[in-house]
Amino acid sequence: MRKAGRMVAEILQILREKVRPGITTMQLDQLAEEQCIKWKARPAFKGYGGFPFTICASPNDRVVHGFANHEPLLEGDIVSIDFGLIVDGFYGDSAVTIPVGEIDQETTQLLQVTKNSLDAGIAAARPDGHLSDISNAVQLLVEKNGFSVVREFVGHGIGRQLHEDPQIPNYGLPGRGPKLKEGMTIAIEPMVNAGLAGVKVLEDGWTAVTVDGKRSAHFEHTIAITAHGPEILTRL
Ligand code: MG
Ligand code: MG
Repeated sequence: MRKAGRMVAEILQILREKVRPGITTMQLDQLAEEQCIKWKARPAFKGYGGFPFTICASPNDRVVHGFANHEPLLEGDIVSIDFGLIVDGFYGDSAVTIPVGEIDQETTQLLQVTKNSLDAGIAAARPDGHLSDISNAVQLLVEKNGFSVVREFVGHGIGRQLHEDPQIPNYGLPGRGPKLKEGMTIAIEPMVNAGLAGVKVLEDGWTAVTVDGKRSAHFEHTIAITAHGPEILTRL
């Protein structure tokens, strides 16, 4: 799991360095796939339920599961990149939202709050805590800052499968659900909207967008729960 997580983190770092006005999400997708081939890892999303790309590329009002395309990213945009791979039989999964050039103040805050909510969720992933302690920590931080948590998509267990039980919603009361145990590996992934929480899926059957057209951010880490607390596997 550490090896898979590290590869995911390194590939996302390579993509992050390429993001600038003018680049297309298709170029980023190809780069991610080439890097997987080079490192003898297999992209986790391509072919998963028929998903056609190596990365999920979701700019601006796209929430998750966006398709890569040939439209150049523009100054002031944001783009969420979700990426996973499998190597030696184990999966890693992580997402980041990256600014394209200079972004406005509200968008900067949206990214910071979403990132902070992921950190809060991770900090709540302690042995003998409950699953929904994570959910509650994410929700509190997001709503305290005036943004909305997406309900339709959730974090998940991860290991020999990309998506394992349990599901990890980004909202809920604390102290509920299964007990967290040392050795569990999970992916925590808040999706946060600047406006309303509602999302809808486009006709491609995958791309989720905000109902009000406002922006959305997504950060995700694969972590391991250890006796000493959470270990982030997809961070460099
Ligand atoms: Mg992911
Ligand atoms: Mg995930």
